[in-house]
Amino acid sequence: MRNTLLRYFQNTNEKEALYEANKIAGSIQKANYLLDASKSEQFLRELDEKAAEENRRIIVVDKDAYVLADTNGSAVGSVLLVPEIMVALEGTDEANLKEVQKNGGNIYASAYIENNKSEKIGAVLVVSPYGKVYTPLDDINSRLLITTVILALVIAVTVFAIAHIIMGPLRKILETMRKIASGQFHQRIDIKGHDEFTELGETVNNMTTKLEQIDTSRQEFVSNVSHELKTPLSSIKVLTESILLQENVPTEMYKEFLVDINSEIDRMTAIVNDLLSLVKLDVNGAKLNITLVDMNKLLRDLIKRLTPLADNKDIELSFETTKEVNAEVDEVKLSLAISNLIENGIKYTPMQGKVKVSLDSDHLDCYITVQDTGMGISEEEQSKVFDRFYRVDKTRDRETGGTGLGLAITHSTVVLHNGSVKVISGEGKGATFVVCIPLKHEEV
Ligand code: ADP
Repeated sequence: MRNTLLRYFQNTNEKEALYEANKIAGSIQKANYLLDASKSEQFLRELDEKAAEENRRIIVVDKDAYVLADTNGSAVGSVLLVPEIMVALEGTDEANLKEVQKNGGNIYASAYIENNKSEKIGAVLVVSPYGKVYTPLDDINSRLLITTVILALVIAVTVFAIAHIIMGPLRKILETMRKIASGQFHQRIDIKGHDEFTELGETVNNMTTKLEQIDTSRQEFVSNVSHELKTPLSSIKVLTESILLQENVPTEMYKEFLVDINSEIDRMTAIVNDLLSLVKLDVNGAKLNITLVDMNKLLRDLIKRLTPLADNKDIELSFETTKEVNAEVDEVKLSLAISNLIENGIKYTPMQGKVKVSLDSDHLDCYITVQDTGMGISEEEQSKVFDRFYRVDKTRDRETGGTGLGLAITHSTVVLHNGSVKVISGEGKGATFVVCIPLKHEEV
């Protein structure tokens, strides 16, 4: 850098000196100083003035390199054979930095002088001191150093500040996420502002809320399952203990108790089976075995299978259809879902009631309706009946053998088919369940 600057200054100085030498040569030529002796006094004065201006030495020689004038005075009368004069007398102007010392040197610049016939009649040598440039250069150098140091400091401080601004919220988020990972789902990140970090914080908070909900519903589910299984287990325990503690129990009593124990075991088996069906339907893990199914056939088969159950209660189980409907569904899973609805219809409808299943479709969806003339479901219960283990009347359902999982299974299955299920009912007004399933299945 320093060398480049130095070279640049040297070149500029040499050019300036050459220009100056040319200018002087020109003025000598114009005023005809060399040929007109009467002007020599004025000529020497002008030269002295010019030399004094810039602290230069100006030497004028004739065509034989004989010194006619020297502002320094010392060379007058001698023959000056320096290369610059020699080349100038031959017709080439030149400038060179010579006599380079530690603190500079002198620039020798020469220019030839012509008469009006373009003959070389002499030359001018301008010797300019060269050295002042070191001072500004050194100054520039030290300023450059100071600027670099200040710049480096500013960059360092800025980088540190930015890192601190970025790292602060990041550290906060990281800390909270670590706590969340260790199971503390109540943790929330508090970052105020409108930047990406706030957004990230909000996303983490939303995720934590979801995790908390999942955790709560998991705990509820486990406690529900335990509770549901505990009831039949306690019954079995009471029944067995009462036999064990008695002496000479009659055979009839043994039989009676064993029948009760057996029905409790059946109940537990039903719960476990329903639970397994539900686990299999877990939305994320479930795989549907989709085929094009004749919905009329599917429903007719179901009705055929459930007619004996309806007959037991003298219930009229009917099927109504108007058209051919083919839908892309998982036949086994959807059969179980619809079967739950029909079984419920039979279960919650008193003797001699009616359960009607109907099928309809439009160009997008098919609609399966299961309508009964039973006890119905009050409006406030309607939103809860699809929850796991939810039963409107606990005592009543224990008698009817329900597990409280049937509608949850139906709901999960329908959702897996990208469909919906809704209930239309009122207390004592019978219940109507409407299932809507797209005719074409699309993976989501
Ligand atoms: P359950 O095994 O007890 O039948 P479900 O999940 O199938 O469990 O049903 C949940 C609850 O919804 C039932 O306990 C019952 O109280 C109510 N329910 C379901 N279907 C009907 C219906 N057709 N009529 C009246 N109540 C019903």
